[in-house]
Formats: sequence, structure tokens, C-alpha cells
Amino acid sequence: MAHELTFSNRSDFFKPSQTLAITAKAKKLIASGESVISLAAGEPDFNTPDTICQTAIESIQNGFTKYTPTSGIPELKQAITLKLQQDNHILVTSDQIVVSVGAKHALYNVFQSLISPGDEVLLIAPYWTSYYEQVIMAGGVPVIINTNMMDQFIPKIEDAQAVLTQKTKLIVINSPNNPTGAVYPRKLLSDLAELAMQNNLWIISDEIYEKLVYDGSEHVSIASLSDDALSRTVTINGFSKSFAMTGWRIGYSVASKELSKRMTCMQDQVTSNPTSFAQKGACQALKISPDFIFSIQKTFQKRRDLMMREFSDLSSVKISKPLGAFYMLCDISEWKNEYNLSDWDISNRLLDDYGVAVIPGEVFGDNTVVRLSYATSEVNIIEGVKRIKDFARSLK
Ligand code: PMP
Ligand code: GLU
Repeated sequence: MAHELTFSNRSDFFKPSQTLAITAKAKKLIASGESVISLAAGEPDFNTPDTICQTAIESIQNGFTKYTPTSGIPELKQAITLKLQQDNHILVTSDQIVVSVGAKHALYNVFQSLISPGDEVLLIAPYWTSYYEQVIMAGGVPVIINTNMMDQFIPKIEDAQAVLTQKTKLIVINSPNNPTGAVYPRKLLSDLAELAMQNNLWIISDEIYEKLVYDGSEHVSIASLSDDALSRTVTINGFSKSFAMTGWRIGYSVASKELSKRMTCMQDQVTSNPTSFAQKGACQALKISPDFIFSIQKTFQKRRDLMMREFSDLSSVKISKPLGAFYMLCDISEWKNEYNLSDWDISNRLLDDYGVAVIPGEVFGDNTVVRLSYATSEVNIIEGVKRIKDFARSLK
């Protein structure tokens, strides 16, 4: 008699990434000729700079197409240590770097290497969706510290203290933040480092949007604040956002030698090295002139200002002023309360009836908001916000 084939219990809890899924749906509609504006995408809309592409192409032509050391080629790891020293005031050696298949993979390595079943992990909501899912995959228990628009989504130390237990193992920090756009001030980071020291917590600091800060705000790396902060922090970064290299899949972790060794063992068994010639491209990215970063920073700041201006005559939603990354949150509480619409209802109707893709806040742990990305052209921003306003008018 044939038996039913079964799946692992673990896989019952795997969920798609809605940020990827909604972005893919919008791309598909656009490709099929629909008039859709995507304010969903968490990726820069411009091309990878030519010099990076040329370097990768030449490395393929020169036969650089074999396995590399699992944790990354020495040239790239060396360049990353130099970058960390110059940009982040983090002093480490190459054996503290593990280059992975995107920052998402680096985060996965870290969670798998730090979390034992039942360990509690502090996440600051709204949080990037994959932290929550990856903590669950590692058998951890996400514990949420809420923030709100009124406080510019800056967490309060008392709120972090209030949820600490004997089981708290680590705290995840993401500044500049996806999805809120918050940039954490130095004082807050130093208070968080102090909290971690007093309670013996690991810190994961995801700094993938570090270059995208506006209005003169400063990006501070928590690992640079003290020797103690350095020893308990895993800094995560990557090439996707600053260099428009989302498809190249190169990210990295910066951690103690022992933790890096453990993560390398895991990577040895799971993926081996990240793509050889993409690593060469990443080396080139670190040589690119600061003018490039400066110009994309200026472009995103202009787009942010435009999006805020376009929303200024829509009183039924409140918007936050992001100081970093390329996302903005819309508070949809009024639409929820008056018209009994959930964040999912709103994002589905916006896409299906008005042709504008946004991400429902539930995937970031806050169903009173939707996320808009301004990593798109000015024309799209104007048209996208117009469509949201058309939707708002239709509710009256
Ligand atoms: N962290 C944050 C906060 C992100 O928004 C993203 C988006 N992709 C990542 C990490 C992962 O980046 P990647 O895997 O493309 O390097
Ligand atoms: N991080 C981006 C976002 O939040 C890209 C999608 C993803 O990796 O989840 O939209």
C-alpha cells in the first residue's frame, strides 16, 4: 500500500517573503503591459555601475570561475577590513569576516550559530520581515519592542528593559531602518550597547543602508563604540543597496574569530563560497569613488522630499519623515477604523483596483501601516501617490 509522503515539521513554518512576493507580482504585471507603479521594491532602480560589471566580466573571461575559499577571497576580505576601519571605525582582521550570498544569508548564518531552541531574540518593530522568520527557523522566540511614528520609530531603552528575561540572548538593531527609515542617534546606540553589556546579550547590527542617510544625519556603527560593544556585536552589511547589486548576492558578517569560524563551517556545508566573479565585482565596488554614493544619496533624498510633498494634501493618512534607507511608512489607522479595512485589504485594493503596489505593515509586525519605497523614478512617485489619493477619495 502506498504511504503518503510527508514533509518535515520544520517546513510547516516556512513562509514566503512578502516583500519579495509583492515586488515580484508587481514586476510581472508591469511586464505583461499593465499600468502598475511599484512602490514595493526594496531595491535601487538604477543599474550596477559599469566598472563593477566590467570587473566581473573580465574575471569570468580570465577563468576566475572556480571555487574560492568558503568565507570569501582574501582580496575582498582585506578590502572589507579596510572599509570597516575607514567608514565605520571598526578594527578587525580578515578572519573576522565571512562573505556570504547576500546579507540575508549572512543573517541566517548568524541566527543559526547563536540561537538555541527557546532563546529569546529582541526585535524592534516595525522590523524587516526576514528577521522574524529566520529567528523562528533557528528555534528562537522573537520578543517585540514596539516603536511608533510619534517617536520617529526610535525605541525606548525602558521598553527594551521591560521585556528582558533569563532567556534573552540577543537584540537585533537595524539603522538606517527598513521599513521605518529611522536612523538611531549615537546616544541611543550607546545606551543599547550598555544594556547588552549589563545583560550579556549579543547584538546584531544590520547596517546595509548605512550609506543612505539624509538631512545630515550620521550613521554610527554600534561596534565602534567600545571594546565591549565590538566583542558582542555581529555587524551585517552587503553590496545590494549602496551599489545597486541586489542580484549579485554578496553580503558579509563581521564577528569574533570564534563565531566567524563556526559560521564558515556552516557555510562550508551549505553553500560553499559566494559566486567567485561576484566577489571580484564587490572588490571593485569598494574602490568606487565616494562621489557615486554621494550622488545616489542626493537622488534618494530628493525622491523622499518629493514623496512627502505629494502626500502633504492627504490628511487621512499620517506619514513619517525617514532620515535613512528608501522607505516611508503611511499610518492607515483612520482608514482601518472608519472603513474597517485591514492593511492587507488596502494593499490588495491599491494593487488590484488602482495599480500601485505597497507592502502591508503586518509583515513588519505593525498592521497600522503600509510601506512605500521611493527607490523609483520621480514620475512613478508622483503617479503612485496620485493613485493612493484616488483610492482615499473613493472611500468617502
Ligand atoms: N537587511 C535589510 C534590512 C534589508 O532590507 C535587506 C533587503 N534585501 C537585507 C538585509 C538583505 O539584503 P541582501 O540579501 O540583498 O544583501
Ligand atoms: N529587503 C528588501 C525589502 O524589504 C528586498 C526584499 C527582501 O529581501 O525581502 O523589500
